[in-house]
Amino acid sequence: MSRSPPHEPRLRPALFLDRDGVLNEEVGHLHDPRDLKMIPGAEPLLRACNQGGVAVVAVTNQAGIGRGLYDAEACARVNRAIAEALGRSGATVDGWYLCPHRPDEGCACRKPRPGLLRTAAADLGIDLPRSVMVGDKVSDLEAAEAAGVGASVLVRTGHGRQEEQRLVAAGRTGLFRVCHDSLADAERTIVGLLGLGRPGSGSPGLGRAAGAADGDPVP
Ligand SMILES: [Mg+2]
Ligand SMILES: [Zn+2]
Repeated sequence: MSRSPPHEPRLRPALFLDRDGVLNEEVGHLHDPRDLKMIPGAEPLLRACNQGGVAVVAVTNQAGIGRGLYDAEACARVNRAIAEALGRSGATVDGWYLCPHRPDEGCACRKPRPGLLRTAAADLGIDLPRSVMVGDKVSDLEAAEAAGVGASVLVRTGHGRQEEQRLVAAGRTGLFRVCHDSLADAERTIVGLLGLGRPGSGSPGLGRAAGAADGDPVP
């Protein structure tokens, strides 16, 4: 007999990914696919999520829309170009969530606020405590913490190297589990956190054991 009531679908974990500086190089207000440069090596991790029942969700602040620097359609074109680049290696992004607002608008969705992650969770049936966020900025990690995401990984691409130094100097390394040079380098850590290891590998995943993740230790 199932313990879940029939009207409550089973929730799945997600891999939340910031876009600029995580999936693609940070070039500042990217809005033309011709300026897109992918950060290589994310595809095997994304495919493992696709095959393992983990939703892959991009969550991105795009204040350039609110500032009138480019429009939502330009942003969507870049997202499609990223999706196509990943798709050439068989990796799929399940959802794209963006905040188009300027910081002074005080919206609920601009990271470090948790709105984008909460909306995605409601739309896609995501179990936030079993999910993982990857970002290159403190605001990515803060949004994940505010949304109740189980663990965050900081990457040193994009703004990540400076943000790591900032967090270490401020004694705020509790915001992230580990720091890796790139999303590709974080693959083993994230596979472990999401419990996507091969059956019998003993990978605990989130929500069971809270042991240290594989990766560069944080001072
Ligand atoms: Mg970023
Ligand atoms: Zn917003």
